[in-house]
Amino acid sequence: TSKIAQAEREGRTWWSFEYFPPRTSQGLSNLFDRVGRMSDLGPAFVDVTMHAGGRTLDLTNDLVKIIQTYLGVETCMHLTCTNMPREKIDRALELAKEAGCRNILALRGDPPAGQHEWTPDAAGFTYARELVEYIKKNYGDYFSIAVAGFPEGHPESKDGRELEIERLKDKLDAGADFIFTQMFYNYDIFANWVKEVRAAGITCPIVPGVMPIQTYGGYQRATERFGTLVPQYFHDALDPIKDDDQKVREVGTQLVGDMCKKIIDPKNGLGVSGLHIYTMNLERGSRMLLEYLDLAPTPQQVKTLPWTPSLTPKRR
Ligand code: FAD
Repeated sequence: TSKIAQAEREGRTWWSFEYFPPRTSQGLSNLFDRVGRMSDLGPAFVDVTMHAGGRTLDLTNDLVKIIQTYLGVETCMHLTCTNMPREKIDRALELAKEAGCRNILALRGDPPAGQHEWTPDAAGFTYARELVEYIKKNYGDYFSIAVAGFPEGHPESKDGRELEIERLKDKLDAGADFIFTQMFYNYDIFANWVKEVRAAGITCPIVPGVMPIQTYGGYQRATERFGTLVPQYFHDALDPIKDDDQKVREVGTQLVGDMCKKIIDPKNGLGVSGLHIYTMNLERGSRMLLEYLDLAPTPQQVKTLPWTPSLTPKRR
C-alpha cells in the first residue's frame, strides 16, 4: 500500500513536501541536507517536480532514487508529457520503479520555458488522462497515481468550470487515485470547488496545495505566475511590511495557517486530511506553518506517525 493511501485511511491530518530539482551542484547538496532535516517534520511523502520540457528528467529520477533509497523517505515523482516521447516516459517509470517509488503525479506539464502555447510531442501524449491510462495499462496497481486539480480553474480553460471538472473526473475514471491541487489563498474558492467536485461524483482524496509565505518577493512571483486570486486581507496585512522578511514570514504563517486550519477542520464537511506543502526548496516557512498548526511532531512523536519515514539510510 502506498503511504499516501495509508495516511488518508488514518484520517489524521498529514502533510507532504514538494521540492524541485535545483540548477547547481551546490543547490543539490543543500537540497539533500534540507530534505534530510525536514524529514524530522514527519512528511507522509515528498514530491520531486519535473521541469517542463524534460530538462530535469534525469535529475528528477536521480533525486527520487536518492531520497527514496538513501534517506528512506517515501517519494512521489512528477511525470509530465511536455517534450516526452513514449520511450522517455517508459524510462522514467522504470527508473522510478527500480528506486522503489510507488507514487506518480501524472501531469500534462507546462509549456517549456519561453513558450506560451503547449504543443504535444508527436510520439507522446496530449492530455494527462492519456498518461494515467498508460501508467495503469503498463503497471497495474504498482503506482498510486495522483492528478492535478485547479480550484481557481485551469489557466488555459476556455470551456468553463463544469467541463473542467468533467475532465478531472475523466482522469480519475482512467485510474488516478488522488487529486493534488494548485496553490490558492482563498478558502471559500477551495471549499466551493471541493463541493462541485464531489457533486460531480468524484470521491477520491483531495489534497490541497499550500504555499507558505516565506518572503514577499517569492509570494508575489508565485501568485503572479499562477494568477492566484489573493484576498484583499492578504494584501492589507503583507504590503505594509514587505521589506521586513521576518515579519512577512510571521504574518504570512498566520494568514496561510488560518486558512489551513479551516481546511482541515472536520466540521467543514470537506473531508480533507492532507496538506501538500510547496516548500520552494526552503525550510523555515514549512516548519513555521506546521508549528503554527500545532502539527510539527516532537522527535518522539515522529517515530509513532503511521507513515513515519525511517531516518536510517536503507537500500531496497
Ligand atoms: P490536463 O489534465 O491534461 O489538462 C490540461 C488542459 O487540457 C486543461 O485545460 C483541460 O481542461 C484540457 N483538457 C483535458 N482533456 C481535454 C480534452 N479531452 N479535450 C480538450 N481539452 C482537454 N508542471 C510541470 O511542468 N512540472 C511539474 O512538476 C508540475 N507539478 C505540478 C504539481 C501540481 C500539484 C499542479 C497542480 C500542477 C503542476 N504542474 C507541473 C503544472 C501542470 O503541468 C500544468 O498546470 C498543466 O498546464 C496542466 O496539467 P494537467 O495535468 O492538469 O493537464
